Amino acid sequence: MNKLIFIDTINKIPPKYLHTPVQKLLEFHNMGVYHDVYQKPQITIGTCMDYRVVFRIPDKFAYIIRNGGSHLEHSDFHLAYSIAVGHIKAIAVIGHTDCGMLNLEDQKHKFIEGLSHSLHWTEQKTTGFFDNYYLENEIYDEVQFTLKQVATLREKFPNFVIAPFVFDVKDGFLYLIDEE
Ligand SMILES: [Zn+2]
Repeated sequence: MNKLIFIDTINKIPPKYLHTPVQKLLEFHNMGVYHDVYQKPQITIGTCMDYRVVFRIPDKFAYIIRNGGSHLEHSDFHLAYSIAVGHIKAIAVIGHTDCGMLNLEDQKHKFIEGLSHSLHWTEQKTTGFFDNYYLENEIYDEVQFTLKQVATLREKFPNFVIAPFVFDVKDGFLYLIDEE
């Protein structure tokens, strides 16, 4: 089990993230440090579309790639764009607790009922839709899924600062995933 580290002071930040935009992200979001003014993005955040995941960061500080479950498998070009053209200096992959993309199979009934009701789809069409898509959207575990994505990204973008986080929807803070 990888521990989640709550960072509320600069001396708790691992050295590899010091003096990078990951440090600034933690200062703004977790420590309430007064927002600097930015004209250019510093970091790209990959996270979930969840309405509870909200960042306390300055305007223009970050590119944010969002989708259900914080999937970045199909975002190589967008990440590369943010590096190449946006000149960002770090990537933060941010999963979160209580994600809707966890245990999708258990939500099948609710999903089918909701979609049939809202879109007036037949049960057969809704079931087919769910069965087609749920496996590629399932994340199983927010911590392990985030770590897996970070490992993949580090292979694709070696020597780049890439940090794994979990956003806790209960307290609204960011937790660094301990990779030791
Ligand atoms: Zn989510």
